[in-house]
Amino acid sequence: MPLEAGLLEILACPACHSPLREEGDELICGGAECGLAYPVRDGIPVLLVDEARRPA
Ligand SMILES: [Zn+2]
Repeated sequence: MPLEAGLLEILACPACHSPLREEGDELICGGAECGLAYPVRDGIPVLLVDEARRPA
């Protein structure tokens, strides 16, 4: 399910405040040293560091 238009522009990684990009069912942090992947559940981004997937 695509995110609401414009939503990505106002979202930022809670860990490092870098912009996020949508990738499949996740929002990926663009921070070079962060890169956390946040899940999107039912179209709602879960921007919690505890819920984020660490980059491989
Ligand atoms: Zn980040």
